[in-house]
Amino acid sequence: MKQPGLQVQDAGVIQEMTGLREGVRAMRVPRGLLFHDPIRWRLFSAPAGLAPEKLRAFLRQNGLDDAAPEPARKPRLRQLFWVPMDQVPERGLRTRPGARFACVCCGKSCRTLQLGPVLPADVERLLELDWSGSGRDTGTFFVDEYDQPIDPRETTLPIFLRRTSTGCEFLQDDNLCNVHARFGMAAKPLMCRMFPHTFRATPTAVSVGMRLGECASAPATSLGLPVIEQHPELEQMLAEHDAIGLVPPSIWATPDRLISWEEYEAIETALFARSGDFVTAVFHAFNPGAQPGTGLERILERATLAGRQAQTLEPAALELEDRFCRGVVFGKDLFLHQDLAQAAALLVIKRELGRIEAADGTPAALNAVWKKAAERSLRAMCHDVDVRAVAAAIVAS
Ligand code: SF4
Repeated sequence: MKQPGLQVQDAGVIQEMTGLREGVRAMRVPRGLLFHDPIRWRLFSAPAGLAPEKLRAFLRQNGLDDAAPEPARKPRLRQLFWVPMDQVPERGLRTRPGARFACVCCGKSCRTLQLGPVLPADVERLLELDWSGSGRDTGTFFVDEYDQPIDPRETTLPIFLRRTSTGCEFLQDDNLCNVHARFGMAAKPLMCRMFPHTFRATPTAVSVGMRLGECASAPATSLGLPVIEQHPELEQMLAEHDAIGLVPPSIWATPDRLISWEEYEAIETALFARSGDFVTAVFHAFNPGAQPGTGLERILERATLAGRQAQTLEPAALELEDRFCRGVVFGKDLFLHQDLAQAAALLVIKRELGRIEAADGTPAALNAVWKKAAERSLRAMCHDVDVRAVAAAIVAS
């Protein structure tokens, strides 16, 4: 597909496409082309096979071509788009090198985490199973988010599994899942089979993250099987999703700094290659000119943590902390929050809060603190912390 002033490459990611307004980038997706306008925080889908003049008219109509005036910028809390699977540009999975996971059946996530929302397909599967002789009543399987009984086939509300006083109603005394024990792994809700893995569509691959901060047995589970060897199962679970979060090809690194996905990937690769103090590496990646130490100290001061003593951690705890930081950035925060700098700031804040709150420096205490931190909402996490200022300080100081 070529026309003067508008070149579309055949590769999955469109690196150069003249004729687009500055900042606007496009990706090829099965349904056609996905244009990302980072100023208006919108995705525009152009159907597949548009003739060049029609594509030009599409761009003009939507204010995406280089003659279009730049619209007023809109502040946005997230730069992640929820897209149907046929708008995911690349299906290949990308796993963080060295990532490992194997469930140790401690049952803690089934006791402590939110049990949903489950998908309509999960509801149908659970209702259709043969529960005769189990003493279970399918009419009580599902509740709304306030634990109120609902009819899952009638409601339009998000659907959750019912919780008893000890956790999920299907959790057995031996910490095994009764759905799994009776009908096999594939019968369980997708969220149960997925945990702690997460998927994020990116312009170059589907990134596999891990919510290790929410896994109470992370020190043991993260020594399990290499995640790369679990790709067949992960691909199967990816196929069961109706939609996943998409990180667009242009990302606001700070309120006034737009970077491409390729630039972000290079930063991420360099960060993951680092050993040692990962948070400091995050800080320096987004603040290359800073003198060692000074920027971080100022950030912590602004985060109102100055004057309080952080715990000195033992080596095993430091290693665990590093792994959790990686988990948070890779699996969650970096793609879910307002921008990369803010995520880096949060990481610094979370780590310092973790150190301060840990009763001692042992891996178990740190694990508990990280779990608590991961469960807190961003708003609660940032209570009395000016995160925007912290984020700005990271990049601009
Ligand atoms: S259905 Fe099974 S795996 Fe899922 S939360 Fe309940 S006990 Fe845990």
